[in-house]
Amino acid sequence: AKKKLGKLRKTPAITRDGVEITLLANIEMPEDAHAAIEAGASGVGLFRSEFLFMGRTGGEHQLPSEEEQLIAYKLAVQTMKGRPVTIRTLDVGADKPLEHNEHNILNPALGLRAIRYCLKEPQIFMTQLRAILRASAFGNVHILIPMIAHAFEIDQSLAMIEKAKSELRAEGIAFDEDIKIGAMIEVPAAALSLPMFVKKLDFLSIGTNDLIQYTLAIDRADHEVAHLYNDTHPAILQLLDMTVTAAERANIPVAICGGMAGDVKLTRLLVGMGFRELSMPAAILPEIKQEILGTNVRELEGSIRKILRTYDPKHIQEILVEMREQVF
Ligand code: PEP
Ligand code: MG
Repeated sequence: AKKKLGKLRKTPAITRDGVEITLLANIEMPEDAHAAIEAGASGVGLFRSEFLFMGRTGGEHQLPSEEEQLIAYKLAVQTMKGRPVTIRTLDVGADKPLEHNEHNILNPALGLRAIRYCLKEPQIFMTQLRAILRASAFGNVHILIPMIAHAFEIDQSLAMIEKAKSELRAEGIAFDEDIKIGAMIEVPAAALSLPMFVKKLDFLSIGTNDLIQYTLAIDRADHEVAHLYNDTHPAILQLLDMTVTAAERANIPVAICGGMAGDVKLTRLLVGMGFRELSMPAAILPEIKQEILGTNVRELEGSIRKILRTYDPKHIQEILVEMREQVF
């Protein structure tokens, strides 16, 4: 019998054959951390920090100061009481416009967004990095960098973090010296050059929303092409498989924090492929947990092999349905 979803809060997400899946919450404001705890999340897998920066008018000085950001990050970190909190650095541009950013007008999704914007505006980036590092003194903070496609972007980001650390050290301000640093895999080029990433970073997190947008060349904000947004397109499945395989080989954690992680129709697919960390809106978490409790990873192996070898979308759908109907 199905347990009441509310009662699942303290039940760990373990499959029938004993595989533990870490379920994390996505948050947009620090107060959302309460909902994450309520839902029984093991941590915050994605703190979309850009929401602190958006909807402000009146020029650059209107962006949140280091102190204001510190208060926000610290609140989320303290609410999570030692559980991991992955703070993503500013991901503005495209569907998340920053009021004073006059840069991109044409093709904003391909323009100066996320890490590209931060490396062009090092002052803004440095202020945020210092605030995140300072918040790390109050719990278990990880830094996540969005939209990385180039090795130099990793190198420059790591150098900026080192610089922020040495500034804080010189000022005698506490932070976590061993803070974990990861990158989003959300540009196809990243999923196709994983050795570049696993060498330099502590973890990966797949942003399926953008990975699908860029792989299938469909603007995620354009309703005219919404019908082409297919998260089980064979190209997407291949990129996911490549990423989880590369991370396993390099022995670094890989999460999914895009919409696919919160779609119960895909839970068995993702767990079967080898994903062990899923981050999603808190409201969906109990339902995903329920699905995991009824899953047997070993029994899915055959279906996973089949789904990764077929390039026939109809066959992919059939296998997905088959997997969901399996009772263990
Ligand atoms: C994603 O792209 O899947 C993601 C998690 O980031 P966002 O939706 O904020 O772009
Ligand atoms: Mg994204």
